[in-house]
Amino acid sequence: STFLELGVDKNLVKGLNELNIKKPTEIQEEAIPLLLSENTDFIGLAQTGTGKTAAYGLPILQKIDHTKLEIQALILSPTRELVLQIKKQLFKFTKYCDHKIFAEGVYGGEKIDKQIKALKRPTHIVIATPGRLVDLMDRGDIKLTNVKTLILDEADEMLSMGFKDDLTKILAQTARQKNTWLFSATMPEEIQRIVKKYMSPKAPQVATN
Ligand code: AMP
Repeated sequence: STFLELGVDKNLVKGLNELNIKKPTEIQEEAIPLLLSENTDFIGLAQTGTGKTAAYGLPILQKIDHTKLEIQALILSPTRELVLQIKKQLFKFTKYCDHKIFAEGVYGGEKIDKQIKALKRPTHIVIATPGRLVDLMDRGDIKLTNVKTLILDEADEMLSMGFKDDLTKILAQTARQKNTWLFSATMPEEIQRIVKKYMSPKAPQVATN
């Protein structure tokens, strides 16, 4: 199928075309229609390079209410480099959209004051490494009460980097009725425990590779 057939907005499709992204990958085929049409938790078993950023990013961009200048989606990613990559991809996808979607990246290794200042501007999507996000939460410098969707990107990688406590804190301190979309290349026991504790038992699971 095409991205249009999966339900992706035509302006987003225009942005994709310009990036030479024309034929949906397997994870995109499976995830996009589901995430667009339902409010659901979701588990995607997918390696990097399979197009998972677009698989969750396109539904997120389409679900954001641009008239509400509040953080509606939170994407957690293991490293600064990945945070910046995700931010850049989302920005490119929206090139032809009528309304601006504001995304901000926060990560360790950079002055927190600069990021606090950035978060005072209108922000729809925050892309964060777990440690820095918890710092911002503890200081009261980020408001996550309006987060509708929490995405854990490369969950296994975040755990092996020692972010387990930060992850559980974020899962516990964001709205109960949010949807959590978890992407991981592997499903070690620690991830299964997180899934059991914080996600719906009815969450659809999709495995590609
Ligand atoms: P990701 O797995 O999300 O890190 O994506 C890996 C790379 O594949 C990125 O450079 C994407 O821009 C690109 N990509 C994503 N989806 C597609 C697609 N359907 N066709 C071709 N390239 C894609």
